[in-house]
Amino acid sequence: MPIIEVALDVPLNRLFDYEAPDVLPDDIGRRVKVPFGKREVVGLILGLKSDTSHPAEKIRPAGDIWRDVPPFGTEDLELFRFCSQYYRYPLGSVVLGSLPPALRKITGWVPPKRRTGTPPPPLETPSPPLTEEQRQVTDCLKSARGFLPFLLHGVTGSGKTEVYLQLIGEALSRGQQVLVLVPEINLTPQLEHRFGNRFPHAKLVSLHSQLGEKERAARWLEAQQGLAQLVLGTRLAVFTPMPRLGLIIVDEEHDPSYKQQEGLRYSARDLALVRGRFRHVPVILGSATPSMESWHNASQDRYRLLELTHRAVRGARLPEVRLLPPPARDEAFSVPLLDALEKRLQRQEQSLVFINRRGHAPVLLCDQCGWTAGCERCSARMVVHLRARHLRCHHCGENQSIPQRCPACGNSHLVPIGEGTQNVEAQLRARFPEARLLRVDRDSLTKREDWEDVRQAVETLQVDILVGTQMLAKGHDFPRLTLVAALQVDGALYSSDFRAGERLFSQLMQVAGRAGRHNQPGEFLVQTAHPEHPLFEALVQHDYPRF
Ligand code: ADP
Ligand code: ZN
Ligand code: ZN
Repeated sequence: MPIIEVALDVPLNRLFDYEAPDVLPDDIGRRVKVPFGKREVVGLILGLKSDTSHPAEKIRPAGDIWRDVPPFGTEDLELFRFCSQYYRYPLGSVVLGSLPPALRKITGWVPPKRRTGTPPPPLETPSPPLTEEQRQVTDCLKSARGFLPFLLHGVTGSGKTEVYLQLIGEALSRGQQVLVLVPEINLTPQLEHRFGNRFPHAKLVSLHSQLGEKERAARWLEAQQGLAQLVLGTRLAVFTPMPRLGLIIVDEEHDPSYKQQEGLRYSARDLALVRGRFRHVPVILGSATPSMESWHNASQDRYRLLELTHRAVRGARLPEVRLLPPPARDEAFSVPLLDALEKRLQRQEQSLVFINRRGHAPVLLCDQCGWTAGCERCSARMVVHLRARHLRCHHCGENQSIPQRCPACGNSHLVPIGEGTQNVEAQLRARFPEARLLRVDRDSLTKREDWEDVRQAVETLQVDILVGTQMLAKGHDFPRLTLVAALQVDGALYSSDFRAGERLFSQLMQVAGRAGRHNQPGEFLVQTAHPEHPLFEALVQHDYPRF
């Protein structure tokens, strides 16, 4: 009697045997309905055998095998096994966890859908003539065959995305599929736009966790059937089965969002490399500020290092970086910084004020005894959110109302110390009442569509000053933005997180990179009490290798 070995989403690191009289050899990698205890569940067939070591009366018959979509390929299954072993996580949970939720449900089954009637945009944006550096890098990448890991280190605005477009174009013309990973959903609309304009006839799908279940399953199935030529997605997309996968690109490879922090704690960047190795295709990791481990791997010749050292747009230069002393207590802005903002307003250029803290003020302090509000659930400090009138822990999500008195000494004068996005916004409004301000953080933007609005508002010059967190730091290309200012950065220098310096440096380099991307020169101002710190010395020179 043919027996199938099935992966199930249960916390046991083993497969389960079922009897399947009509199973076919190519059913490995297909979904199957099976009884489990008193329930029916969805599993994935990982093996076939003619016999089982379990007693015959314990073996139950399997239900339907779904044959209307192609099975997972052998490399996909290899990737699941690797994940399970490397991350010490039950194989069945790895496998089932990689499926869109609708395809894990016994009733949620959506038939594969072929979308028709989406007209391609009329105009195809041609590629610009490449810069000499871009041409060299592109030639080198185009000659890659088989598995080769590349680290593309290109300064912000150096045209890395253009290099990706060149390679994607070539892979598409060979009939291959391409997987492009980005760290955040917010980065997908802009890239979708650029990819769509360059390849109006290619089928592009984006995959991320904010899609509705049906939509996500439908797009995933389009990738699995080879209909979607270009798959753009956040970390979960690294598992998308793509039968004709020919190239993997991981943009902003240093970004911590590639790491899944719960359940299967994987790094999508690392898995992209493993996947490329199993699949024998090149993998490109791109960044202006590579992670320390990727830089190290490149310096050990494990990855091939490619560099773009200049901005792509003719005449565009990296912004000039100036370090400014911090402002007086209770102020967010120093005088030279206010002057710089004023100048931009007069010239009708845009500015970005970067502060990596949501809410109003980071800590609530008793000025009598020095008590600060800490989280009761974890060891982090609580953050004051004045509008919502509560304290919130940004580490674990704990919420509390703002205490009337100091719990330690009873003093009723508790003061918020430091700046967050909300009171920086308030101070700017008071100072520049005419300016059009837009605050961008996780409290002001909740949906992906909100992002599209932000992008349009900035592009159509309806915003003078953007105030925001690191959500604004990455990837975006806003031509009229000429000033970027970073406030309150010194905290990271004292952090106990061993990556704090690396993160701060890359955030500052990234956010600086938003300034002066086109013809107008950009300026980046950083308020710090430690201008002599090596991190800032490297920053002023845009010198990543030195850092
Ligand atoms: P990165 O991804 O490295 O930040 P982008 O690919 O977004 O850089 O390029 C930055 C800007 O330069 C974009 O506006 C892009 O259209 C433009 N650009 C890229 N390559 C070229 C080129 N060869 N010639 C002219 N403009 C270019
Ligand atoms: Zn007190
Ligand atoms: Zn907490």
